[in-house]
Amino acid sequence: MNFEYILSQVKENYDYALKIRRQIHQFPELSYQEFKTSEFIRQELTRLGIEHKALANTGTVALIGNGKKCLALRADIDALPIFEETGLDFSSKNNGVMHACGHDMHTAMLLTSAKILKENETELNGIVKLIFQPAEEKFPGGAIEMINEGVLENPKPEVIFGQHIFPGAYSGTISLASGPVFASTSELYWTIKGKSSHAAQPHLGNDAILTAAQLINYYQNIITKFKNPLESAVLSVTSIHGGTATNIFPEEIKMMGTLRTYNKELGQNIQNVILQNSKKIAELYNCECEIEIIQGYPPLINNEELTNFVKDIAINTVGEENTLQMEPKMWAEDFAYYAERIPACFWLLGVNTSQIDEMPPLHNSKLNPSENAMINGINMLIQATNNYLNNK
Ligand SMILES: [Zn+2]
Ligand SMILES: [Zn+2]
Repeated sequence: MNFEYILSQVKENYDYALKIRRQIHQFPELSYQEFKTSEFIRQELTRLGIEHKALANTGTVALIGNGKKCLALRADIDALPIFEETGLDFSSKNNGVMHACGHDMHTAMLLTSAKILKENETELNGIVKLIFQPAEEKFPGGAIEMINEGVLENPKPEVIFGQHIFPGAYSGTISLASGPVFASTSELYWTIKGKSSHAAQPHLGNDAILTAAQLINYYQNIITKFKNPLESAVLSVTSIHGGTATNIFPEEIKMMGTLRTYNKELGQNIQNVILQNSKKIAELYNCECEIEIIQGYPPLINNEELTNFVKDIAINTVGEENTLQMEPKMWAEDFAYYAERIPACFWLLGVNTSQIDEMPPLHNSKLNPSENAMINGINMLIQATNNYLNNK
C-alpha cells in the first residue's frame, strides 16, 4: 500500500471512526468494568471477520495478516469517574462516568485501522496484533494483566506502537520524543497517629496535625536536598483529613499523595528516605507514622530507533512543521509495561481546535477533542504498520 492509497482509505472510513467513537463515548465504563465496551469491540471485530480472543476479562487481542514479522498496536478502552459537562448531543449516558482521557478515540482509531488493514490483508507482509486494553486509569493497570496472560506471546510482536490524544497541541500535529517521556509513579497513604486532647491543653495530647505539617514540609526538602538537581522528581501531598472541631486535637490524620520520577531507582531511593525519616520526625512529636506505598507504573521509555522510524512517518503524514518535539510529562501510562519488554513508540496526537490555554485538559469534565484529528491518528497507525511490515 502506498501513502496516498492509505490516506484515501482512512478518509473513506472517517464516518465509521466517528460512529464508533460516539457510540463508545455515550456508554463509558470504569476501569476493570468495561463489559459492554469489550462486547461492542468483539462484536465489531467478528462483523469485520477479524480473529480475536478475550484476555484479562475485559481486554481483547486480535490478529490480522500472515507471516513471520509481527507488530502490535495498542488502544486503551476505559473511562473515568467524572460527570460530563460538554453539552454534546452524544454525551455520556452513564451518569458520573466520562471518556475524559480520549480512550474512546483511541479505541475508535484502532478499530478503524483494523477494518482497513483487514480489507487490505493480502498487502501485509506479516501479522498485526491489535490490543484493546482495559483499565489504564487504575493500578495495577490492564497492561500488566494482559502481559501476564500472554498478550506479547504467540506470536511475539517485535515492536509496539501506541498513541494518546493531547489537548496541549493543535489538531493536525504529532508530538514525539525518544527516551523517557512519562514518569514512574507510586501512590502514598499516610496514617499519623497522635493523642486527642482539649485544644487549650496541648501538653496533654500529641499533635498529629503539627506532625503532618512538619512531614509535608520535610518532603519538599527531600526533593530539593536529597537528589541530584539534574534528575526530575515530584512528591505531592494531595489530600489531608482529620479533626472535627476548633477545640479538639484529633486522634489521627490521614494523608494521600503521589511520587513520580523518570528513574525507577531514584523513585525507590526517595521512598526509602520517606519511610525511614517520617517515623523519626513523627517521634519528635510523640506521634506514630505509618506509610503504605503502592507501586504504580514504570517510566515510559520510547525506543530511539523506533521513534526515529515513527518520526519519518509523522513528517510524511502531517508535515515537518507539524511534527513536534514532545516535552516529557510527569503523567503515568501503563503502556510503559509493554515498552519495558519490547521496543516501543508512544506518540501524542494533537486534538486542540481553540486557543491552547482555553482547551480543557485531559481528565476535565468539559474535554471536547477534535474528532477530525482521528484521520491523522488512524493514518499514523496504518502507515507505521505498513512501513514496518513491508519495508523495514
Ligand atoms: Zn487518563
Ligand atoms: Zn489516557
